[in-house]
Amino acid sequence: MNHLPSGKWMADTLKDNRWDVAIIGAGPTGLAAATELKKAGIKRVIVLDREFEPGGIPRHCGHPPFGIKEFSRVMTGPSYARRLVGSAENAGVNLAMKTTVTSLGAQGTLSIVSPEGLGEVKAKRVLLATGARETPRSVRMISGDRGLGICNTGTLQSMIYLNNLIPFHRPVVVGTEIVSFSALLTCKKAGIQPVAMLEEESRATVRWPIYHAVYIFGVPLFLGTRIINILGDKRVRAVRVSDKNGDKREIVCDGVVFTGQFTPDSSLVRMSHLDLDQKTERPLVDQYGRCSDPSYYAAGNLLNQPVEVAGKCWSKGCLTAQQIVKDLNEELLST
Ligand SMILES: Cc1cc2nc3c(=O)[nH]c(=O)nc-3n(C[C@H](O)[C@H](O)[C@H](O)COP(=O)(O)OP(=O)(O)OC[C@H]3O[C@@H](n4cnc5c(N)ncnc54)[C@H](O)[C@@H]3O)c2cc1C
Repeated sequence: MNHLPSGKWMADTLKDNRWDVAIIGAGPTGLAAATELKKAGIKRVIVLDREFEPGGIPRHCGHPPFGIKEFSRVMTGPSYARRLVGSAENAGVNLAMKTTVTSLGAQGTLSIVSPEGLGEVKAKRVLLATGARETPRSVRMISGDRGLGICNTGTLQSMIYLNNLIPFHRPVVVGTEIVSFSALLTCKKAGIQPVAMLEEESRATVRWPIYHAVYIFGVPLFLGTRIINILGDKRVRAVRVSDKNGDKREIVCDGVVFTGQFTPDSSLVRMSHLDLDQKTERPLVDQYGRCSDPSYYAAGNLLNQPVEVAGKCWSKGCLTAQQIVKDLNEELLST
């Protein structure tokens, strides 16, 4: 339904190994940075992404609002992603899709796996723009059965918007962050009616008046309530919850959507020689966004705490690209 047009992202580009800047992640941050670099006259810019198509998370967010800051328009995620990809392609950015970066080496040497097999990409500068991910059920330590019908918002959106799959009809939505309302919107679009929204804290994470949206969606909101168990060995049939008084009960449902609690996608950094903030699990950067190895930079939701909307990541991508240009032109002060 929302597939992007085929583009110039080809494995052939990877055979050329001398890049000025390599960017890991073709989301709003990486695409904005790549376009900005090309506009500033940097000749050889490549964006590497493990997905089939560029665009990052917005590619599967079939709802607005995207693009207000960047394009002065209210767009859905897929139109926004198409627009970012179009700008990058027009600027002459090389996009290498289905290409996973597996390790970061000293001085901008990246190990990759692509449909061509194992390989190496070398760049004078590397920008890490790998984003952030919602916390899955396993990390939340929720016990119980492991039946079908348990996912995050991102997976739910991929199923619905990219693959036309309806994973359940009456799920429970866990969390009250902005992304949780994205999950409600996605359910509504697919004709799915959540039976409850659960929040462990005594108040919703989103501010008034957004949380009133649950009532517009017709979903009962239970504050101070947490899931202690998921029931249903083949497919989810209920969740067992505990409220603030410790009273326990079952809610009949056929799915669970765990929303939010974003953590940085920093697995590459964790395995690398780059310094990592042990508390936040984000790479340590200086005022320019430069990592402990100065050939590496980081930007976007990989660094943002809390995570930001796409427009803010796009701005950060542009700003960091400007620093990289100065660095390549030897105009950046060392710290
Ligand atoms: C469900 C949901 C709904 C949202 N709704 C909105 C909204 O309505 N409006 C809005 O403005 N924002 C929204 N956002 C936030 C927005 O999507 C993010 O702010 C934005 O996508 C962050 O951009 P990014 O480029 O930093 O990261 P991402 O978009 O996450 O892109 C990171 C890219 O890095 C790639 N990658 C990671 N590791 C590797 C690796 N090792 N090798 C190769 N590639 C790699 C990933 O495949 C991905 O494509 C939503 C987010 C979610 C999860």
